[in-house]
Amino acid sequence: TDPLLDIRDLRVYFDTDEGTVQSVDGVSFSIHRGETLGVVGESGCGKSVTAMSIMKLLAMPPGRIASGSIHFEGRDLVKTDEAQMCKIRSREIGMVFQEPMTSLNPVLTVGDQVSEACRLHEGLTRKQAYQRAMEMLSLVNIPRPETRIHDYPHQFSGGMRQRVMIAMALSCNPKLLIADEPTTALDVTIQAQILDLLDSLKSKFNMAIMLITHAMGVVAESTQRVVVMYAGRVVEEANVQDLFANPQHPYTQGLIRSIPRIDLDASEKTRLSTITGSVPKLIGLGAGCRFAPRCPHAMPVCKEADPVSRETAPGHRVACHLIA
Ligand code: SF4
Ligand code: MG
Repeated sequence: TDPLLDIRDLRVYFDTDEGTVQSVDGVSFSIHRGETLGVVGESGCGKSVTAMSIMKLLAMPPGRIASGSIHFEGRDLVKTDEAQMCKIRSREIGMVFQEPMTSLNPVLTVGDQVSEACRLHEGLTRKQAYQRAMEMLSLVNIPRPETRIHDYPHQFSGGMRQRVMIAMALSCNPKLLIADEPTTALDVTIQAQILDLLDSLKSKFNMAIMLITHAMGVVAESTQRVVVMYAGRVVEEANVQDLFANPQHPYTQGLIRSIPRIDLDASEKTRLSTITGSVPKLIGLGAGCRFAPRCPHAMPVCKEADPVSRETAPGHRVACHLIA
């Protein structure tokens, strides 16, 4: 069957004083109905920019989709006008971010905000919307929502605020939920609870999730399929078992080696390999593999030609000159 979302050769550029930043440079992947797709990579790899391109929210700073397509249920969002995008954002694609405090209005009660979201999406009366808000808050496991609905965001813990944001994102019954580092600001126990919550809501709402994270541990726990991004490009794509059993791109291998192991003591931990160096500035880059300056296997060809993405096993794609 057709994927829910299909991104082809997407290029997103930002014009700055220093030059054009090629934040996303030829990215292709799709998301199937009902799956959780992990999009993983270091900060600056283009994963959030890809998400904001799907929502067509590249306004600040001014970014532009230079080429490519983003098909969502048959429509190309790149060609969809703002009026239609508004409807899609409020009814079909939900989004949650890393820091819920900044996305909630501090001067409105949680009940007002969640019920307003429900009213927008479903055209309910005020009273019906409050009832619906209460249901949504219990669905995201906020205990005794009737006692919390008149509280303000600062009266909630970070984890509880993220539950409120999830409730708002789901009030439109979306087909796709984009979660951009939804647990990064939370402590480890709460992280696990939020990831479990997203997983149970996924089946309840029969939706797909695009889970953006820099943490391979989160990917291992919570996704079915994974796209690994580096410097604006997809370097590897596989189902989660294949990716961890047989990582083929040197960058993916490095990410997996750098997962903190809690079964090692501190002295061993410090000896674990991490990827040295940092993500290149994405301005005025020529041909060649963008990981070459950090890659332990780099060859002369790596600096001359872009590696082409090849399928090495069903559903497993790698873009690296080591794969011939
Ligand atoms: Fe390393 Fe070359 Fe593969 Fe890039 S293409 S990851 S530099 S081996
Ligand atoms: Mg980001």
